[in-house]
Amino acid sequence: MDLSSILPEHFQLTDQYVGEIDIQIGLVATQTVGRCPDCQMPANKVHSFYQRTLTDLPICGKAVFLRLHLRKFFCHNTNCARKIFAQTAPAYFCPYARRLNRAEQPLQAIALQTGARPAARICALTGQPVSHSTLLRISHKTVVQTQHMPKRVGVDDFAFRKGRRYGTILIDLDRHQPIDVLPDREGKTLEDWLGLHPGIELVTRDRSSVYANAITKACPHAVQPGGRGRSRPVAFVG
Ligand SMILES: [Zn+2]
Repeated sequence: MDLSSILPEHFQLTDQYVGEIDIQIGLVATQTVGRCPDCQMPANKVHSFYQRTLTDLPICGKAVFLRLHLRKFFCHNTNCARKIFAQTAPAYFCPYARRLNRAEQPLQAIALQTGARPAARICALTGQPVSHSTLLRISHKTVVQTQHMPKRVGVDDFAFRKGRRYGTILIDLDRHQPIDVLPDREGKTLEDWLGLHPGIELVTRDRSSVYANAITKACPHAVQPGGRGRSRPVAFVG
């Protein structure tokens, strides 16, 4: 199996293992110059190597793990408080992440569409074993990382734990994408969120007066096309 064409840019294949249930791929970063995160000065003197293991998208139903060999550099800037810094690749993974960005995005989408427990069962069938609690955590992150300020937003509630704890999901109606998940369905929480997103022109919602009042307070000029019918909350767990 030739894996080189699907590997992240700026990484070179060192070894690979194809097992019954998983594929392990060893990679080394090809960039030999880093940039200090504090002073932004380039550096090429290597202090040591460290390893990160990250989950990637599955191949042929097998889980894929990337073992990344990355450098630690000395910062040469005598005025900089940082002496050593670690090489990263933010386009592919975030600090402390356990999976590549491209592997996390579909999990977010599945969890938001189906709920965390069904999503965990679907992911297991497709070679992405992940617990429902991890999916729940992923779902709480901002779903769309974008500078785009939405103009038309849909607001609805959903059940984190059916019949016990509810949150609020916000959908960008123009992009048909979830843009955020709020930890409850309180009017104040929605009002605060709307206050941080000026320029919203239209908000669709259920018939809840709590949401209606929050929208009227935070963005009084926004059109509220009335109740669109109470839909059954999406269950995140159970
Ligand atoms: Zn520095």
